[in-house]
Amino acid sequence: MSIRTRLNLWYTCLLAAALLAFGALLYSFLSAALTLLVDDRLATEAHGIISAIESQQDPQDALLSGRVSLTSTDVFASQYYIQIVNLQGVPLKASQNLQAQRLAVPDDVRGDIAAGRSGAYTLDMGGGNDLRVRSEPVILQREPAGAVLVGESLGIVEETLALVRRLMLWMGLAWLLLAAIGGMIFSRAALRPLQTISDTARRITLAEDLGRRIPVAVAHDELGQLTGTINAMLARLEAVFQTQQRLVADVSHELRTPLTTIRGNLELLHRDSGNETAPRAEAWRAIEDETNRMHRLVNDLLLLAQADAGLKLSLQPVELDTLLLEVYRQARVMARDRVAVRLGAEDQALVLGDPDRLRQLLLNLVDNSLKYTPPGGQVTLELQKAEGWVKVAVSDTGSGISPADLPHIFERFYRADRSRARPGGAGLGLSIAHWIAEAHNGRLEVESDLGAGSTFRLWLPLDSDSPAAGSGKGAMDEPNRREPIGIG
Ligand code: ADP
Repeated sequence: MSIRTRLNLWYTCLLAAALLAFGALLYSFLSAALTLLVDDRLATEAHGIISAIESQQDPQDALLSGRVSLTSTDVFASQYYIQIVNLQGVPLKASQNLQAQRLAVPDDVRGDIAAGRSGAYTLDMGGGNDLRVRSEPVILQREPAGAVLVGESLGIVEETLALVRRLMLWMGLAWLLLAAIGGMIFSRAALRPLQTISDTARRITLAEDLGRRIPVAVAHDELGQLTGTINAMLARLEAVFQTQQRLVADVSHELRTPLTTIRGNLELLHRDSGNETAPRAEAWRAIEDETNRMHRLVNDLLLLAQADAGLKLSLQPVELDTLLLEVYRQARVMARDRVAVRLGAEDQALVLGDPDRLRQLLLNLVDNSLKYTPPGGQVTLELQKAEGWVKVAVSDTGSGISPADLPHIFERFYRADRSRARPGGAGLGLSIAHWIAEAHNGRLEVESDLGAGSTFRLWLPLDSDSPAAGSGKGAMDEPNRREPIGIG
């Protein structure tokens, strides 16, 4: 059953229940009011007769002997039936229109008569004809002496009530029908955007086109919000899908180059078997280099995949200054006097971290600096503490990065200048460095001037247990620093 039909059913049932309750209440009020009206009229009539009895010379005798003239009402066709009874409810006189019949007196009313109280009751005269009877006491010399009963057919009241019942039934049904039809029309209009959403979603699935969006009709209602949310989700899916496609293309591209080299060299070795050893040794070296390069690439990809899957590093206290010193020594070896490597300010700092990953991060920055700094240039390593944080800077006097490339350099497979990048770099180093920084609750920033050099800064929170960590502020306080440039 569709939501629309279910909603309509609920709504119509609720309306029916409300109409029924309201109708029942109104009907019972009306019925009570009409009966009260009849009772009042009967009481007035009875009082007229009581006055006639009281005006007799000997009212007691007149009452008990039944010698009361009921002239005004003693007409055969009168609407009132009158009966005078004694204290026990025994009839003493009855109007002619009652003929041989007598008005029965229920026990409780008999009690009322004996006690000198008025009362009212309904008599079933058979044939669906009900009679309303009012009993009014006759008080003579301050003592109840009997009662005057005045009855009237309830025919008109019952007819009126039957008419009201029929009217309520048909009007109620008409209202329900109208409400159901109106509800169907309104709910169809209100839920139409849902149909649009579902149609568009189906078209997206069929056409495999994540670029489509659902048109937002009314932006501010719940369906407008849902449309917005789905569109945002589609945009995200599209972005993820595109990244996935780009990743596959990049990985294939990065793997194809070394594989081509390896295959070429293997063919060369195959053809020239038994010839001079020098080209053969070169071919073997090329194969080894390319294999190493593929190995590095696959390792990097694996690490990034693990990072995406939420890999948690096991953190331990690390003396960052000692680690930086190791990196500095290694950097000097890597620079091979081509570039000067300098160690600037170096504070002592203890951080919580994974020493291997931190080394990998710093070596990556140093490797890039050496790679993009021309001979004669300079690479400087520094470590400084600042308000619960430690800052490691790797700066160079190299080629720098253009403002257009700067926002992208932390993206996977991004290389500012593909022709310039050395064959070994696949553009994953900074993505990994960025992830390692974040996995340590830190940040990696870059500042660069094209042609003048670049500075990469790694911010890490100091280990809060270390005595060196405190300088009044909490270890995780945000460092007081300039806005980073080009964070991926
Ligand atoms: P790659 O393996 O290509 O070095 P990275 O992710 O390490 O990949 O770096 C991404 C890009 O950022 C590089 O291709 C290069 O264009 C730029 N880059 C990184 N470090 C430096 C630097 N110190 N100087 C100039 N450009 C840099």
